[in-house]
Amino acid sequence: MRIAFFGAEGKVGRALVPVLERAGHEVKGIEIGEPRDVLGLDAAVDFTTPAAALENVRAALDQGVSCVVGTTGWDPQPLHEPAAERGLRLFVAPNFSIGAVLMMRFAQQAAAYFPRAEIVELHNEAKKDAPSGTAAATARLIGGEPVIHSVRLPGLVAHQEVIFGGEGQLLTIRHDTTARESFADGVLLALEKLETLPPGLTVGLDAVL
Ligand code: NAP
Repeated sequence: MRIAFFGAEGKVGRALVPVLERAGHEVKGIEIGEPRDVLGLDAAVDFTTPAAALENVRAALDQGVSCVVGTTGWDPQPLHEPAAERGLRLFVAPNFSIGAVLMMRFAQQAAAYFPRAEIVELHNEAKKDAPSGTAAATARLIGGEPVIHSVRLPGLVAHQEVIFGGEGQLLTIRHDTTARESFADGVLLALEKLETLPPGLTVGLDAVL
């Protein structure tokens, strides 16, 4: 596919663009301040900032291009109608790592058996939003409004623990992303399945697994 990549020079972008190219995709990187010219491309991928993602996706949809978005901390709901009206897809996943999606599923299962849970999410100090999109999505899945602790430190990539407390026992479900290439499989899968999704907004890697 011919793909626009908003944020190609960011930490995720630098890790993912070579993987997408090795998989046979032709990638046009678009950085901040550059024209959002995606006309005629097959899809746009966005890993930027919450404010930029909204404008980038809006511009891509205006040019008739479906989008795969990993940027967290923004609300894609207002773009459902604009995408659906044009017969385009807007796929947004708070986490493109398949291990993290399984961690969320297992946490959802465990939640039925424990009275309390708290979430600890740990990310690199450069991450702009808190709590992370993955932690917020996990909290929604397990219910009961669990407390989310956000740690931002150098040396971290993306990590999350869901700690369940019960009478005389603890259960910890943990996932660690040690390299940003871990997001590539999910992005490749989303691009492959994009046209099979219903027009409009789809949230979460579960929808394409
Ligand atoms: P980052 O290193 O700060 O990269 C963001 C990049 O986007 C930077 O190169 C930035 O340029 C660029 N940018 C900002 N505004 C732009 C615009 N209007 N058009 C095009 N490019 C623009 O951040 P990151 O670690 O790569 O993460 C990016 C986003 O992905 C964050 O929201 C993060 O939470 C999310 N993320 C999601 C997943 C997932 O699996 N869904 C995984 C990891 C990260 P400047 O540096 O010049 O501002």
